[in-house]
Amino acid sequence: MVRGRFAPSPSGRMHLGNVFSAMLAWLSARSKGGQIVLRVEDLDPARSKPAFVAAILDDLKWLGLDWDERAEDQSRRGGAYEAALNRLREMDLLYPCYCSRDQLHAASAPHASDGRIIYAGTCRGLTAQQRALRPPTRCLRVRVPDDTVAFTDGLQGPQSLSLQGEWGDFIVRRADGVAAYQLAVVVDDAACGVTEVVRGRDLLSSTPVQLWLYRVLGLTPPSFTHVPMLLSVDGRRLSKRDRALDLGELRKSWPPEKVIGLLAWRCGLIDRWEAVSPAELAADFDWRRVRREDIVMELPDMTI
Ligand SMILES: [Zn+2]
Repeated sequence: MVRGRFAPSPSGRMHLGNVFSAMLAWLSARSKGGQIVLRVEDLDPARSKPAFVAAILDDLKWLGLDWDERAEDQSRRGGAYEAALNRLREMDLLYPCYCSRDQLHAASAPHASDGRIIYAGTCRGLTAQQRALRPPTRCLRVRVPDDTVAFTDGLQGPQSLSLQGEWGDFIVRRADGVAAYQLAVVVDDAACGVTEVVRGRDLLSSTPVQLWLYRVLGLTPPSFTHVPMLLSVDGRRLSKRDRALDLGELRKSWPPEKVIGLLAWRCGLIDRWEAVSPAELAADFDWRRVRREDIVMELPDMTI
């Protein structure tokens, strides 16, 4: 059984980019007779708001993007993440990191191809004696081998990435004691029995470290398909700042089929902008018709 998923973060209202990823995740699973699991990714207590959870669920229903079950919210899954950390600890793969933000962002820090800072391994070789002299921290990193991880993305094709060269030892538990996204998403997708992950291309570079975590934790990985980003006319990624493109605004003037139709047209699923429901699109959905390049969204004309 195919199991796809929605994994919204309740830090704001959905914007067109979130709708686009959710629509393609839904179409991919439903067109194969599969199920959808909904999981609220509220690991960040400062940014997650219950009001946004309610709004996001209501927006998905309004769009016609339904789901079969709701998994436990990430904020309630601390025990499962600690169990996974214990497994990594037993394999001697964890160590505490004492580096400050300033140390990590030092001018000499190596950078990955997308601008992220690669951890230089500063705390990797500390002795127990040296650790005892540092102020305590809950931040944990995982030792990654000098391996390359290769996989075939459902839309972007063959990928290969060096774990040390592009990530270095990455954080699996933050200094505030909360599990890091890379660990939580792997533990949760495995627990939910997810067989396919469809998400934005901004997460493509995270996939190799997640695949590596699946392997060391003895879990079965899903397939991955990374969809294009939606860009504003000035070339920025659409974000929660683009209020005119969030559903709170769009729902004032548009029926749901117009929102779905706009995204389906811009990504190549239909030939012109018309009102269409997700169920209608699922009838002949084919990934080969979806474009892989990022998509510029002009501010939609509210009078249409
Ligand atoms: Zn460190």
